[in-house]
Amino acid sequence: MIDSADQQMPPPNRPILVGMDSGELQALAKDAGFPSFRGKQLHHWLYNKAAISLDEMKNLPAGFRDWLREHCELGHDSIASIRESSDGSKKILYELSDGKIVESVLMPERDWFTMCISSQVGCAVGCTFCMTGFGGFQRQMTRAEILSQVLLSRKLVHGEFPRNLVFMGMGEPMLNLDEVIPALNVLTEPDGIGMTPRRITVSTAGILPGIERLGEADLGVNVAISLNAADDRTRNEIMPINHRYPIASLLDACRRFPLQARRRVTFEYVLLNGVNDSPEDAWRLSQILRWMPCKINLIPWNPDPHLPFRRPEESSVRRFQEVLLSENHSVSVRYSKGLDVGAACGQLAGHWRGQSKGDEV
Ligand code: SAH
Ligand code: SF4
Repeated sequence: MIDSADQQMPPPNRPILVGMDSGELQALAKDAGFPSFRGKQLHHWLYNKAAISLDEMKNLPAGFRDWLREHCELGHDSIASIRESSDGSKKILYELSDGKIVESVLMPERDWFTMCISSQVGCAVGCTFCMTGFGGFQRQMTRAEILSQVLLSRKLVHGEFPRNLVFMGMGEPMLNLDEVIPALNVLTEPDGIGMTPRRITVSTAGILPGIERLGEADLGVNVAISLNAADDRTRNEIMPINHRYPIASLLDACRRFPLQARRRVTFEYVLLNGVNDSPEDAWRLSQILRWMPCKINLIPWNPDPHLPFRRPEESSVRRFQEVLLSENHSVSVRYSKGLDVGAACGQLAGHWRGQSKGDEV
């Protein structure tokens, strides 16, 4: 099942600029016979200014722009449609170069935006409560496709980049680290997009080797674990990946993850009525996370008619939270944004649902 995630996009014929870091762009300019600082300027236009065409890059000499036009591709995807929720969040569908569709969500906070982005087209992990999983895996996203979501968003939110970024859209980022890690590097380069690593969270269903590799890369980003059950029997049922990486080994990997000062691992817990939402489940959860400096986010399940689960009553959500609070855990209930436009956690299904260009703009 997971092995299919090794599938990569065929290599492009021409180098793609989006996704190259400052050093790579400088080397590109130099190898083409231009001074390397032209690569630095290109870097500034691509990322700091989020330019989407070479014509915008006014201070690049025409000769360099012509060379780029002939030998490279910029690599932005196109926005196929945008749907706005009554709560102000926007679901954005991007059309990739092969026609596949991925989704991201822009969520307004007090005076900034949080963005939830995708890292794969579909997902191979197959969690039984998740629409992305239900649709299956299609292919990896490239670093250009991952970054494109953020770069294009800038035009939608008054010229600003999102302040917080979460890899909680479609796909399992830890199964695409060859592309996700370079994308994280570009996101956090100080003279480019310039995101603070501590404002970026990579979420995982618990792919142990991925958590270890991201830790070794030591990028200063946060990690969130979609735990969703406090015992292996329940977790095996709703997240088959647990057979391979059971809870105890996952918690060990979290303890080893290098966090920045005063940061904690986040645990996501989707509440499914009658499956994992009893006070006993809450108690078990409080015990297994007892010695772990962490934050717990409870997410009442967002319904989909294709899936055989129910959203819990408000009263059981509160009861669950109270058990954790009484054990001194830091816990909040996350009501997903964008529920009315299918943009909430777990509802991103992209192409699989047959949404395509021009649906609702
Ligand atoms: N694959 C990664 C990143 C995607 S994040 C991961 O699983 O962590 C998707 C998040 O939404 C996960 O925390 C998942 O548990 C949650 N989720 C999936 N389906 C959901 C649904 N229908 N309602 C609420 N949360 C859901
Ligand atoms: Fe994939 Fe995450 Fe959905 Fe599980 S919850 S199927 S890992 S996207």
